[in-house]
Amino acid sequence: MDFRTRQQKLREHLASSHIEGLLVSHLPNIRYLCGFTGSAGFLLVEPGGSVFFTDVRYDTQAHEEVKDAKVVIARKSVLQAIGEFLARRKRNRKSILAVEAEHLTLAEKKRLNDALPSGIRLKDSPGIVERLRMVKDEDELDAIRAAVLLGAKLFDRAVEVLRPGIKEVEVAAEMELAARKAGAEEMSFPTIIASGARSALPHGRASAQPVPSNAFVVCDFGVILSGYCSDQTRTVWVGEVSDEARRTYEAVREAQQAAVNAIRPGVTVGEVDAAARKVLRRAGLGRNFTHSTGHGVGLEIHEIPRVAHGQTEVLQPGMVITIEPGVYFPGKWGVRIEDMVAVTSDGCEVMTPTSKDLMAV
Ligand code: ZN
Ligand code: ZN
Repeated sequence: MDFRTRQQKLREHLASSHIEGLLVSHLPNIRYLCGFTGSAGFLLVEPGGSVFFTDVRYDTQAHEEVKDAKVVIARKSVLQAIGEFLARRKRNRKSILAVEAEHLTLAEKKRLNDALPSGIRLKDSPGIVERLRMVKDEDELDAIRAAVLLGAKLFDRAVEVLRPGIKEVEVAAEMELAARKAGAEEMSFPTIIASGARSALPHGRASAQPVPSNAFVVCDFGVILSGYCSDQTRTVWVGEVSDEARRTYEAVREAQQAAVNAIRPGVTVGEVDAAARKVLRRAGLGRNFTHSTGHGVGLEIHEIPRVAHGQTEVLQPGMVITIEPGVYFPGKWGVRIEDMVAVTSDGCEVMTPTSKDLMAV
């Protein structure tokens, strides 16, 4: 991973925004910028260099993992150590230290303020690093492809075990065991196995309900590999497929394909969302498509951009987004199909390898 280039891009951004330093507290942002994978620490990025602060628990790990930043192990409070570090430099002039407003807690901000030398003022800053992370570099694209391929194998396991009467949680357990055996670090989110009427819940976590016959089962799952998330949904039918079920499924599939076909650099995410929505509206299912079309994915399962109605973010090569339209009939059933897609220089690469033909088990 090219941490040096990432930090350089961040410094250019800070310079153009007249910010002298950024204290990064969001762990995925820290991992992105210097490679630290532990659960506590702060990265101070300034024009002349970066310093990573953590506590004694991470002494060994920080020295092993952190690249392109000096490591400071705080003996007591990490925020206190940051204040002392900045005070030692005896700055005479006033300066501004930006903090990640979306992530630093109010209590941490107060403690930091108390620890800082006078003359340094804190400034709330929106997701600067998140915006850099929106466009993935080649190393990240490789890591995401590997996560997507591993994640896709879990669907094969789901199809092997899905049958009427098996509990949703048992299906999820088989998938999660397969993920771990294949080397996944963890799941990207709690596995969704939503069968029968529960398939109408867009976030129906696997429950103790037995899978009924003649029903849709929405399987939405993902793994984390080398820190990067996968996210995929397939909806299968249990039993003999009815005409109505097939029509519903095919409408979602067509909408999903229309959105994928719309992806290329220069197009807004709102236009991609509209492409899916238009197909479902024409099929009379517009009201049943209740959520946005997709989201960015990377070190976190939900990243910017939001692929949603009216959103104006313009697609650029290197962005990775999900395309996941769905339709839901409360009390009856639901269908969702989700792929991960990378924006390329002239179009897109559908990363998810799994067939989207309606499968009956
Ligand atoms: Zn998903
Ligand atoms: Zn998703």
